[in-house]
Amino acid sequence: MNKNINSIEKPFKIESYRDEVLNTASIDMEWIPYRGKYLHSKTQIFAAAFCTNWGERIVLHISQYQKTNESINSEKALIEDILFYFNQFPLTFGWYTTGVAIGKYDPRKKVFQVKGRDSDFFILHQRCLFHRIESPFEIGYNGKYITLKKGSKNKHIDLIKVFEKQVIKDYVLDGRYRTTSLDSVSSAILEISKYEGMDAGTTNILQKSTKLQKKYVKRDAELIMMLAQYRNCIVLRLMKIFSHYAKMDYYVVCHTSVSNWYSNKYEKMIERGDCTLSYTPYYSLEKKEIGGGHHTRSQRGLFVNTLVYELDAKGMYPTIVINNNLSFDTLNCICCKNTPSAYLDTETIKVINDNLMEQKIDRQVSNYWTCRKRKGALCMILEEVLTDREKYLRLIKEEKSKPCPNNLLLEEFHNCQMGAKLFANSGFGLFANKYFKFSNYKVAECITGEGRRIHKQMETLASREPFNFDIVFGFTDSIFFKIKEANCQNPEQTINQFIKQCKDKLGITLEIKNVFKNSIFYGINNRFVGVLDKENDRIIIKGLDGLAESNPLWIKKWVYEIIKQIITKPDSRFEIIPKLLDDAVFDLVNNACSSKNSIAEELSYSQKLRMHPTEYVSSNRTGKVGRLMNKDKGEVIQWYETKNIDKETSENYSTSAPDPENVNLDHYIDRLFEKLKRTLEITGFDVQEIKPEISRKILTMINSKSLS
Ligand SMILES: [Zn+2]
Repeated sequence: MNKNINSIEKPFKIESYRDEVLNTASIDMEWIPYRGKYLHSKTQIFAAAFCTNWGERIVLHISQYQKTNESINSEKALIEDILFYFNQFPLTFGWYTTGVAIGKYDPRKKVFQVKGRDSDFFILHQRCLFHRIESPFEIGYNGKYITLKKGSKNKHIDLIKVFEKQVIKDYVLDGRYRTTSLDSVSSAILEISKYEGMDAGTTNILQKSTKLQKKYVKRDAELIMMLAQYRNCIVLRLMKIFSHYAKMDYYVVCHTSVSNWYSNKYEKMIERGDCTLSYTPYYSLEKKEIGGGHHTRSQRGLFVNTLVYELDAKGMYPTIVINNNLSFDTLNCICCKNTPSAYLDTETIKVINDNLMEQKIDRQVSNYWTCRKRKGALCMILEEVLTDREKYLRLIKEEKSKPCPNNLLLEEFHNCQMGAKLFANSGFGLFANKYFKFSNYKVAECITGEGRRIHKQMETLASREPFNFDIVFGFTDSIFFKIKEANCQNPEQTINQFIKQCKDKLGITLEIKNVFKNSIFYGINNRFVGVLDKENDRIIIKGLDGLAESNPLWIKKWVYEIIKQIITKPDSRFEIIPKLLDDAVFDLVNNACSSKNSIAEELSYSQKLRMHPTEYVSSNRTGKVGRLMNKDKGEVIQWYETKNIDKETSENYSTSAPDPENVNLDHYIDRLFEKLKRTLEITGFDVQEIKPEISRKILTMINSKSLS
C-alpha cells in the first residue's frame, strides 16, 4: 500500500493533548461536485486530508495512485488508504460529515427536488459500495444521516452539529458567524479562511493544479482541528458538562439539541421515580400562542452628559421557576386543586389576561396553581445546576485570592460555571417549543406572565418615591433610567437602595450592567446607542438595522463611523457630520467603485436563505438570486444594485460585481441616508437639507473624475 505523507509544511501551530482531542484526527475529503441525487457515475473522490491533534498532516491525492500502478483503479487505492488512516484514530472530527441529501417529489411543481447536500461519509460510503470495499458506515434512521456502524470501536464528532447549536453560536461565541459553513465559522472564530478563499461549492477546484488541490483539502482538515482545539477545546468541554447534566452520552449530546437533552433528563427522572406524572396527566400540551416579555415604550432622544443606568435582573426566569415551583409535573396538579396557597399570584393571572387581550389572542385564564406537595422536575434540575454554579463561582474567588492563582484551574472553574449557567438558562424556554416532548404552553405562559408582573412592579417601584427615576426604556428583565436632578447627590446609594427593595419585595437580584455617559434612544424597543461612562468611550450599539450583516460593507462602515462621532463628540456634531458624509461619498466614488474587486468587497448586499430557493414565490428577489446562484437553504446569496438592466436577472441588480460605471450610486447613497435618517433626526439634523447637497456633490465628483 502506498503511504505518502505530506507533512513538511506546518504553517499553523496545531497542538493540544487535552482529553477531548487526545489521539484524534480531523478528516476532510474532496470529490467531483455533482447536482441532484447521488449516482455512482456522477462523482469520484480525488483527495483527502487528516490533521492530528499533535499537528501532523496527512494529505492523500488520487494522482499519487496513478503513478504507482496504472492497472488498478486509482480511486479504489486512494479510498483504501483513506480508510487505513481513518480506522487508526479512536476519535475523528469532521465538518458536515454525517449529512445526506434528501430527494423528494414535489407533486405541486411536478419536479423531483433534492434538498441538503451529501456529506463526506455518505460519499465515502457510496464509493466503498461501488468498489466493493467494506464500508465502516451505515445509513441512519429514515435515511437522513450517516454514521459509523453500530458497535464500531471508533467514534466520530461532526463538528458542524456542535457549532450550529444556538447555545454555542450565540452564547459562547457571541453570534460571530452567520452561517455554519466551514469558511464562515473559521473566518469568524480563527480569522483564517479556506485556502486562498476557494470554495469547492462554487469554484471548481478540480481545474486547479494537484498541488493547489492538496493545499485546499489540507487547509480544511487543519481548520476543523483548530476549531476542535479552539480556546483549549472550550466547545467540546462544554459538551461534556452538558452531557453530565443531561445524563446523556457525550457523543449523543454533540449531535443532538437542547430539547433532546432535557427530555432525556426528564425521562430518566421519571424512570427513577424522582418525579411523577400521576398528578398531571395532561402534562404534554399542543402549542398555543402566548404573550411575550414586558416592554416599556422607549423614550426618543439624545442624552448628552446625562447618566443613563442599565440594570439587569440576574437569572430572572430560573428564579421565577424555583420560587413558584413551575414545571410540567407540578402545574395544575390534581392534588392541590383546592389549595388556595398553591395558586399563582392573582396579579400574575391579571397580567397574563391583559396581555392575551393586547395581543388579540382569543383566550382567557381563570386560575393556575402549582403543587405544594412535590418539587417539580425543572426546579430540581435548576437547583442542582445552580448550586453547582455557585460552588464554581466560590472556587474562582478562592483561587483568585491566592498569591499565585493557578490559571488552568481558574479556566476549568470558569468553564464549569458557564456550562451550568447555560444549561440552566436553556431549560424553561423549551416548554414553548412544539417539538419538545414535554411541550406545555401553560408552563411557558406562567413563566413569562410572572416575568411581566415582576418587570411591571419593578418599574412602578423605580418611578415612585423615594426613587423617582426617569425611566428611559425597559424590556423583559432590564430597565434603563436617568436619575432626576433633585436626587443626584448620591446616585450610587439611591440605586443600591432600589436594588435592595427589588430583592425584598420582588425576589429578584438586580445588577448594574452599564452606565452611559451619552446615549441615543430611538423610541423603538431594544434599539439604542450609548457610550459608557468611565470606560474609555466604549460604545454599545443595539438593534441598529444599518449595521445588520445583510448591508454592504460601505454602508455598515459609514453608519458606524457617523454614529460613533455623534455619540462620542456630540457637541461638535454639526461641524463633523457634514464632513463625514462628504467623506463617505468620496469613499464610494473613488474607493468602493474603483474596481470590480472593491465593488465585490464593499457594495454587495447579502441575505441568508431561510428556505430552499424553489420554495420562495417566483417574484421574490432572494429566491430568484438563490436559484441563479444555485444555493441551498442556510447559504448566503449576494447581489449588487446596477444602473442598467442586468442580462441574467432582467432587473436592476446583478449577482456578480458590475463594472464601476454600472454601479447605481444614487441607490447606495439613498440607502445610507435611509439607515441614518432616524439618528440624524433625533440628534437635530435636517435631513431634507443635507440630502440634496450630497447628491449635488456626487455629480461634481463624477464629472471631475470623467474629465480627468
Ligand atoms: Zn399537588
